[in-house]
Amino acid sequence: MAEKENTILEIVTIGNPVLTQKSEKIKDIDQEIRELAQGMVQTMYAAPGIGLAAPQVDRGIQLITIDLSVGEKSNDLIILANPEILHQEGESVLEEGCLSVPGVNEKVTRPYRIVVKGIDLDGKERIFEADNLLARVFCHEIDHINGKLFIDHLSPLKKSLIRKKLQKQREKDEFK
Ligand SMILES: [Zn+2]
Repeated sequence: MAEKENTILEIVTIGNPVLTQKSEKIKDIDQEIRELAQGMVQTMYAAPGIGLAAPQVDRGIQLITIDLSVGEKSNDLIILANPEILHQEGESVLEEGCLSVPGVNEKVTRPYRIVVKGIDLDGKERIFEADNLLARVFCHEIDHINGKLFIDHLSPLKKSLIRKKLQKQREKDEFK
């Protein structure tokens, strides 16, 4: 068998319709899903980022990868299909960014603690209790599979300012 190469997938950015659609539930954890998950992990590490959701690599399915250590600690890697928030409590405000919304960082209010249920790559149900930053990343990635971006949590005024800024950035890039 050929040695496994690193697969870096293209990250789609705001404006791509896949980012605003609700993703499909995964029925079977098959080889294709496992390979996509590995590609997402490599892409997340290369970015670098601490979380990625399948819609960000143009796949409208419910799959997320999270690693607060960005590959430094092997125990930190979480790969979860069909993640679902069972419980949330508290509140935390922290600046957030997103690989699909480049150059934008804004404060977002999230629950401080959450309980998440999902399926791992062995097809087993997993429950995670997370707080603080990990809870935030879970919420951010689960938002992605529900077609929501972090800027959707901001006021309409702030959101429209960001959209204008991104539009200007795009126009500038086109004339480069
Ligand atoms: Zn994101």
